Amino acid sequence: TLAVRTQLLDDGRRTLGVAAVIDDVSERRRLEEIRRDFVANVSHELKTPMGALGLLAETLVAEEDPQVVRRLASRIQDEAFRVSRIIDDLLDLSRIEAEEAPPREPVPIGLVMAEALERVRAAAEQRAVKIEVEEPDPPVAVVAERRQLVSALYNLLENAVKYSYEGGLVRFSGTVHDGEVVFAVADQGIGIPARELERIFERFYRVEKGRSRQTGGTGLGLSIVRHVAANHQGRVEVESREGEGSTFRLVVPLESGSRRS
Ligand code: ADP
Repeated sequence: TLAVRTQLLDDGRRTLGVAAVIDDVSERRRLEEIRRDFVANVSHELKTPMGALGLLAETLVAEEDPQVVRRLASRIQDEAFRVSRIIDDLLDLSRIEAEEAPPREPVPIGLVMAEALERVRAAAEQRAVKIEVEEPDPPVAVVAERRQLVSALYNLLENAVKYSYEGGLVRFSGTVHDGEVVFAVADQGIGIPARELERIFERFYRVEKGRSRQTGGTGLGLSIVRHVAANHQGRVEVESREGEGSTFRLVVPLESGSRRS
C-alpha cells in the first residue's frame, strides 16, 4: 500500500509549491506487526517456563519426601535451562548483529560440529530424534569466528529437531568442495510451504503462528544463521517440501579471513 501525503512548501511568506510524499505504509505496518509479534512471542516463551518455575518452587517448599524433592528439583533445572536458551538466542543475535567483522581463527570443522551437537543433544533426546553425523575425512579446518559458527549450526539443528516428527531422523554433515565447507542439516519433518521460503530468514518471522507457537521459538534462529553466513562471506540455502522435510545448507569459504570488499 502506498500512501500519498501532500505537503505545502513555503519560505515563510508565500507558498512555493506542493510536494507529494509517498510512503510505503504496508512495509512499515508489516515491520511494526513483526515487532509486536516478537515481543508477544518472547513474553509468551518466557512466561511459560517462569510460571512452571514458580509452581515447582512452591511445591518444593512444602515437600518432605526426598525422592519427590529430587524430581521437582530436576524439573526446575529443565525449566531454568529453557529460559536461559531463549535468552541465549537473544544475546547471540544482538552480538552477531553488532559484530560484522569478527576475529577469525582456524577451527577444525569436526569441532564446531561437535559443539553444536552438544547443545542440541537434550532437545533431540526429548523428542527421540536421531542425529546422523558425517564429518570431513580427513579433518579440515575453516577460518571462522568459532562461537558464531557454532551458534548458526546449533540453530539449524535445533530447528531440524523441533520440526521433525517424534522419533525422526536428522542428517548433519560437513563436507568440503572447491575451497568451501558445506554444512548440511536435513530433516524429514513437517517442511515449509514454498510461498514461505523467502521469508523465513527474516528476523522474528515464523511460519503460521499457530503451528510454530506449539513448538516454541522466537523466530530469531534463521536470522542468526543468515547473519553468520554474511559475516563469513558465505550463504545459506534451503530446500523444503511440505510434509517431507527440509534441508538447510550453510556454505562458508574455508578462508574468509580478510574482508573482501
Ligand atoms: P523459530 O524460533 O520459530 O524456529 P527460526 O527463525 O529458526 O524461528 O525459523 C523461522 C520459521 O521457519 C519457523 O517458525 C518455522 O516455521 C520455519 N522453519 C525453520 N526451520 C524449519 C525446519 N527445519 N522445518 C520446518 N520449518 C522450519
